[in-house]
Amino acid sequence: MDGAAFTTLERANAQDVDRAVAAARRAFDDGRWSRAAPAERKRVLHRIADIIEERALELTVLGVRDNGTEFNMALKAEAGSAAGTFRYYAEAVDKIYGEVAPTAEDVLGLVHREPVGVVGAIVPWNFPLMIGAWKLAPALATGNSVVLKPAETASLSLLKLAEYCMEAGLPDGVLNVVTGQGSVAGEALALSMDVDVLVFTGSGATGRRLLEYSARSNLKRVYLELGGKSPNVVFADAPDLEKAAAVSAMGIFRNSGQVCVAGSRLLVERSIHDDFVAALSRHAGALRVGDPLDLGSQVGAINSLDQLEGNLGFVADATAQGAEIALGGGRILESTGGYYMEPTVLTGVAPDNRVFREEVFGPVLAVTAFDGDEEAIALANATDYGLAAGVWTGNLGRAHRMVRGIRAGIVHVNTYGGSDNTVPLGGVKQSGNGHDKSLHAIDKYLDLKTAWIQL
Ligand code: NAD
Repeated sequence: MDGAAFTTLERANAQDVDRAVAAARRAFDDGRWSRAAPAERKRVLHRIADIIEERALELTVLGVRDNGTEFNMALKAEAGSAAGTFRYYAEAVDKIYGEVAPTAEDVLGLVHREPVGVVGAIVPWNFPLMIGAWKLAPALATGNSVVLKPAETASLSLLKLAEYCMEAGLPDGVLNVVTGQGSVAGEALALSMDVDVLVFTGSGATGRRLLEYSARSNLKRVYLELGGKSPNVVFADAPDLEKAAAVSAMGIFRNSGQVCVAGSRLLVERSIHDDFVAALSRHAGALRVGDPLDLGSQVGAINSLDQLEGNLGFVADATAQGAEIALGGGRILESTGGYYMEPTVLTGVAPDNRVFREEVFGPVLAVTAFDGDEEAIALANATDYGLAAGVWTGNLGRAHRMVRGIRAGIVHVNTYGGSDNTVPLGGVKQSGNGHDKSLHAIDKYLDLKTAWIQL
């Protein structure tokens, strides 16, 4: 936010992680939470949600000072969403049933759904509370113990959340937080022989390592939520092009583009290309970028100097490869210090340009023109990723064809971004293999056990 040191954190080593995992295992095995009545677990999860709501302002300010997200967005997307997630899974706790199998009459086949045991959760810095809650709430709801490793540059709100969990009555040892470096604490957690399931949100490079760590240790299940290079496809027949331009600008520039589902590739039908880019650039250029704690700021800070330099490197490479800068392209020097960047629009981006293919995770939009549905789908799918997409059209048949044709975990139609706990979020291709949110997420935290009983 201002580039200055805010606090210091413990740098957990492998022994610290082992102690946390052992505490989680003890808590799981003695049943203090894993065998608590569902109604009791439900009560505690609701209480956690209550406390998050009561202290939402304090929690949000802490998180914003740590990671730089604009306050107005963080209040809703971090504290607000985390409380909602705890409530959603609190309500699910006592609605998870086993099955009676349709066997022959002399046998009873029961399918129990049991907590997996110790869950390792590793999360990124862009929305630590929201993403942390997506993992913690269903893991705890189903009776597991958890060891959580927050990101180096965004640990504080999750440490505070752990305090709230204890205050709400979550028994000791059920939730353990280890702060520190990914390459040390994260690696130790992923290599642990006593972690049963690893749930992760972050980059593809780290995701790959986690799969290796699993193979090298106890073959723990690994669920990955990775990055994206999500296409936002605008057709000339969109019902309201001005609205499409405004929403598409926010679809990439909120939280300075540090959003996994950011619509970072704009595909525009050639006949409206110039007008649409002009409208979007007008909206983007009017966004107030600055101090995330200033309520007038619509876009906050870049998380770190490394991240800012990476963003600027993408712009330099893109122009060297033939793209043109229609808006922004540079650093903003704020009087507060810290790292800020102009919303940046690059046009004429060819599919072989690095900025078309690789995730920037910053406020950089790559624009490419297309002709017709087929080319739109081909360009949309010309990526290793498959997290999110958007389609703007007034033609219902075309909307359905695009939803079917684009390989992504979520396709927004005539909007971009936005969803709630009732629907899953997850990717296909190299965007990941697991889903957060919705009742589907619960399966990650449960094992199936069959009882085969001769009558
Ligand atoms: P990252 O992979 O660098 O770090 C994520 C977490 O992994 C951090 O806690 C880090 O400490 C840890 N880590 C790093 N190296 C590790 C290792 N060797 N072993 C174990 N843990 C390790 O990612 P990031 O820069 O924090 O986050 C940005 C990425 O996250 C982007 O690619 C973004 O798209 C993705 N993301 C995805 C979603 C989603 O839901 N799909 C949501 C938000 C962010």
